[in-house]
Amino acid sequence: MLIDFTLIHKKIKNIYIRVNREGNVVVTAPIRATHLQVSKLIEAKHKWILAVQLRSKSQIHNHSLPAIDKRLAREYLTSRLELLSSANNLNYNRVSFRSQKTRWGSCSSRKNISLNYKLLTLKTELIDYVILHELAHTKHMNHSLEFWNFLELICVGAKKHHRELKHSLPNL
Ligand SMILES: [Zn+2]
Repeated sequence: MLIDFTLIHKKIKNIYIRVNREGNVVVTAPIRATHLQVSKLIEAKHKWILAVQLRSKSQIHNHSLPAIDKRLAREYLTSRLELLSSANNLNYNRVSFRSQKTRWGSCSSRKNISLNYKLLTLKTELIDYVILHELAHTKHMNHSLEFWNFLELICVGAKKHHRELKHSLPNL
């Protein structure tokens, strides 16, 4: 993945990467640092950069009309889903992305998970909560006590996140 960045050379020892409010990547590097060195570092950090960019973009857009970059949203949500799925040994069948007004995500009896693009307007711990909630449904296809106990095991603070989400529907 190619990430655009602005390179500033300074009399310093280390390379620093920063994502500003507009989501632009600014790199400050020692005078002798080569473009290749910086590119390699950017490459290694691209997931972190992407996550910060998405957050700053969605925060900006929260105040106007939401214009979430769907391709970036899919990329970010898929990588979180894959990570949380394998970390908790919860397998799903397929994932799809929607833009719904009333739900953040869903899980069918065939273990097909659907996620809302607008998740990107939430803070990262809530995004992970929604993903874990849907993954937990691959074990418990209901909202029984067993479901909530299981969810709390793989996602500390699940109930608290659930309450917080109740006040923020994706109804943008
Ligand atoms: Zn549910």
